[in-house]
Amino acid sequence: MGLSQWINELNADQDQFIAIRRYLHQHPEPSFEEVNTSALIAETLASFGITDVKRNVGNGYGLVATVSGPLPGPAVALRADFDALRVPEESGVEFASENPGIMHACGHDAHTAALLSVAKVISVHRNEIKGRVVFLFQNAEEVQPGGAKSMVEAGALDGVDVVYGIHVLSGLDVNRIGYCKTFGSAASDTFKMKIQGRGGHAANPHLCVDSVIVAAEIITSAQTIVSRLVNPVNPAVVTFGGVRAGATAANVIADTASLAGTVRTLDSSTRSLIKAALIERSTAIASFYGASVDIDYTDGYPSIMNTANEVEIGVNALKEAFGENNVECLEVSMGGEDFAYYLQEKPGMFFYVGARNDAIDANYPHHHPKFKIDEHAIQQSGEAFLNVLAHYIL
Ligand code: MN
Repeated sequence: MGLSQWINELNADQDQFIAIRRYLHQHPEPSFEEVNTSALIAETLASFGITDVKRNVGNGYGLVATVSGPLPGPAVALRADFDALRVPEESGVEFASENPGIMHACGHDAHTAALLSVAKVISVHRNEIKGRVVFLFQNAEEVQPGGAKSMVEAGALDGVDVVYGIHVLSGLDVNRIGYCKTFGSAASDTFKMKIQGRGGHAANPHLCVDSVIVAAEIITSAQTIVSRLVNPVNPAVVTFGGVRAGATAANVIADTASLAGTVRTLDSSTRSLIKAALIERSTAIASFYGASVDIDYTDGYPSIMNTANEVEIGVNALKEAFGENNVECLEVSMGGEDFAYYLQEKPGMFFYVGARNDAIDANYPHHHPKFKIDEHAIQQSGEAFLNVLAHYIL
């Protein structure tokens, strides 16, 4: 009885949830356009007899479903995101995307199917639980400003005590679980700079302000922000991903130059240090050369910061379920994830469910057109969630 019964039922229902995942995979919708995905989630929850479902929560199609037990206890929120990417699918699976140029290339279809499978078990056993379970089905993780922040602002975490989230991982073997102790993702900010010089004939540099030289100095100087200003124990990345200036003429000094890039950091003081230094240096360099620079700096998602107590509870529950040796502490990724906003409000943990299987080529990176998962990760995600839940509500 109890948890083992829950897991038995979860396992017995896997065909249903693999079918849901495949349906979502075949009919992916990009961030902020997930109308049908959201409707399917609502219908599925209704079919389980879950009636407390709020729809269109926040800035899009997010849903918050609550199942309460008869006894007092904690409120535990679980989150799954459900948006797809603007990536043309080349995975070769039989249920490949029917929407040209759109693909579930990050596994959010699996997250949604797994969380629905948990909702089914909990709805059946609602009379056994203490407190309540809050299911966060979140829209638009992939595109700024994301859905998480607006769902939090709309009250999705009101009264919630702890929040847990998962991500399947094509870089982690199926049947393995990963977690990070504190930071679980990077703050991912982006910037654009437009340098205004004074163009002219390439033979007359003394009559011009060369925007290319200013761009080159800004790029070079930025390299020493991380290497000379940031405390070396704090990870940080400054990448210039785009540089454009002039046309193709060899004999023209470019009037303007444009730069684009990203800043990745973990702790918030490093984050603000780099932002300030980048703006200060770029402005000073431009002015030093008699140019000007217009800087458009966008704060992206903050970094995920797991809380120690919930990591301990979560990891213990996961080790009990999957075995001590199958749960590993991973290196933090410098990617971004808007689950960070939930953890700014409530204690909790984000963890990873292995989906890699070389035998079926399920090992391409996330967001790759050939991205694939081992679907056993759906069952594992559900089992992981149920084990964590059991700690709080059984
Ligand atoms: Mn993702």
